[in-house]
Amino acid sequence: MCLTFDDAYLSTMLHAPEILERNGARGAFYAVSGKVGGSSDWDGTAARPLAGWDLLIDAQSRGHEIGNHTRSHPHLDDLAPEDQRREVDEAHADLVEHGIQSRSFCYPYGGLNDAAVEAVGLAGYQVGLALRKKAATTDENRLALSRVVVAFSDSLPLLLYRLHVRPWLRRR
Ligand SMILES: [Zn+2]
Repeated sequence: MCLTFDDAYLSTMLHAPEILERNGARGAFYAVSGKVGGSSDWDGTAARPLAGWDLLIDAQSRGHEIGNHTRSHPHLDDLAPEDQRREVDEAHADLVEHGIQSRSFCYPYGGLNDAAVEAVGLAGYQVGLALRKKAATTDENRLALSRVVVAFSDSLPLLLYRLHVRPWLRRR
């Protein structure tokens, strides 16, 4: 199982790496390169502070993955192919410039189409993360892997349902 965290919120980066390490685990955190140290303005009235480069670099040095989550958090599937390429490539350049060696990409809102997946592959990424309310399987395209979403408001029973009961129901 991989634990992934979208957006690299300040609160996430202050606490999650340490909690994971205490449990012998590492996580993958997806930063929006043009907003690092600012706020998640794409959340509208729910905008929250985002971690700065120092926290991202510190997490990377402790063995966590810092991945590409575009430069401005758009719905990539709404953009023209050249704009998709720019979001992915410029974010990659921003990360490299700050010493972040990202190997994976996360589609904002899980929004993707064939051109977006191609842009991520062309940028050299080995792994791309979508959504889809199910766990990834080995037969999926590695540049568009499924994930089970866990939200702040989820209770433990709901999490257990998503991880264990729903997949079991689907298999029946
Ligand atoms: Zn996001």
